[in-house]
Amino acid sequence: MAIRDIVKDGEPLLRKKSRPVDAFDAKLWALLDDMLETMRAADGVGIAAPQVGILRQAVICELETDDPEKPEILEMINPVIAKKSGKQVGPEGCLSVPGKRCDVQRPKNVTVRFQNRNGEKIERAFSDFNAVVTSHEIDHLSGVLFYDKEVKSPKKK
Ligand SMILES: [Zn+2]
Repeated sequence: MAIRDIVKDGEPLLRKKSRPVDAFDAKLWALLDDMLETMRAADGVGIAAPQVGILRQAVICELETDDPEKPEILEMINPVIAKKSGKQVGPEGCLSVPGKRCDVQRPKNVTVRFQNRNGEKIERAFSDFNAVVTSHEIDHLSGVLFYDKEVKSPKKK
């Protein structure tokens, strides 16, 4: 595994659309392994392939579980949000946009169809924090950054 350079906001690549993954091979696995190592080194809870300069539809999310000591690392290849419901607003940041945080509106619940690193098709539902992380990472595959969806808080009187 190797830590890769994180593409920063302002680089045009980050705004491009990623292509689907069609080969579930050693090259993909190496990419996923490097993405995880890069995410951990940067202390993030999610990373998308374009953030390491690869325009392919692959993301990794660190999800909350019932045990706060044991988050789940989930790889999602070719993810599509099949269903969403509800709303939540909360602060977000991004490894590609250092120093910036703002409030973003996200669905409260999402159902995602994706493939794992072996190409097997999976459908899973996520809520609350996990819905935020998955939505944020999947947005990267369309060139969307979190602050595009900034919710400005009403002015205090
Ligand atoms: Zn991000």
